[in-house]
Amino acid sequence: MARETHRIDTLLIHAGEPEERICGAVSLPVFQSATFEYAGQSSYDDLKYIRMNNTPNHEVLHRKLAVLESADAALVTASGMAAISTILLALFSPGDHILVQDCLYGGTQDFIVSDFAPLGFQFDFIDASDPASWAPKLKSNTRGLYVETITNPLLQVGDLKALAEFAKANGLISMIDNTFATPVNFRPAEWGYDISLHSCTKYLNGHSDIVAGAVIGKDALLKKISHKLIHLGGSLDPHACFLLHRGMKTLAVRIRHQNKSAQAIAETLAGHPAIDRVNYPGLPDHPGYDRAEALLEGFGGMISFELKGGLEAAERFMQRVTIPIVAPSLGGVETLVTRPATTSHAGMSAEERQTAGITDSLIRLSVGIEDTQDLIDDFDNALTRMNRKPQMASTKI
Ligand code: PLP
Repeated sequence: MARETHRIDTLLIHAGEPEERICGAVSLPVFQSATFEYAGQSSYDDLKYIRMNNTPNHEVLHRKLAVLESADAALVTASGMAAISTILLALFSPGDHILVQDCLYGGTQDFIVSDFAPLGFQFDFIDASDPASWAPKLKSNTRGLYVETITNPLLQVGDLKALAEFAKANGLISMIDNTFATPVNFRPAEWGYDISLHSCTKYLNGHSDIVAGAVIGKDALLKKISHKLIHLGGSLDPHACFLLHRGMKTLAVRIRHQNKSAQAIAETLAGHPAIDRVNYPGLPDHPGYDRAEALLEGFGGMISFELKGGLEAAERFMQRVTIPIVAPSLGGVETLVTRPATTSHAGMSAEERQTAGITDSLIRLSVGIEDTQDLIDDFDNALTRMNRKPQMASTKI
């Protein structure tokens, strides 16, 4: 089943499934076997073993993910960070230089600064929304470009089309973290990106019950990444593959609800007198609004905002909401709120966070699939009750 003939809702259910159902099973069973009987394979990479990422549970995901993003091939990994670190270590050699967006998920930035650079790799930050500033950063050893579709946690949308074209024109491998957008809202290969990656822990699985990652892209690059993954050992367990496969089937339904709900919540928050600033690419005053509208099929389920009253107000707000859970991570069916300074971006120094524009009082909201009006009412009540005592934990729903 291919992208040209079917829409994403159908592909999520049927693409990549075994041609002949195994024992007629409608849902692919879990192949919880570390090793498989030798069947005459001539290459080491083809031996069937969980670390080789090639059980039937892995293979169905690889086929499905490639079709969903209109790419040649895909690979699942033990986490989003396993995908990111394996891609960078597989595709570049010490002495190579890469260009990196200046506001990334904190774990990625910390890996690049604290692990990748000390191994002898070089990097420079770029402003992904300012094409004129990229060429002066090129060096004779520049080999790659790394960006996020929608950045964590400021929800910036760079000039994604120009970035892919710039990489191609300069012989760079283009890599994009598509976690926040998902293949429902953006398919990097269709815009010329060589490699897309995901923390499948988030939207692709969607149920906050596994940690997983994915790499999707060009065949020759995926072969190198797969080989490195086998050496580094960041393979995904078959049971986690099963849960990811199950979660992905409802991706389009969840994402469309989250796109719509987040838009309504962002508009409500933006109009509230207690709110100072809302970052959401679907708001017309967002600096990346025109780009987001041209590039994305939906603005996503993530919002970040600042309250008037700074850190104290942020803490009070988080204690007074009753539906969202105060927890890190994102992309699940339940609404989560967190302060990135203490969670996703805690690995960055206070100075690095300040340079990136991530204040201590910034609140990040991952909108779940609860009723939109219930969430709006809950936020409104929390903002009204800011000066009253928080509700007891037992009165939270
Ligand atoms: N990329 C983004 C945008 C993320 O938000 C995260 C985690 O929050 C990651 C990558 C890392 O994913 P994981 O926690 O699955 O390793």
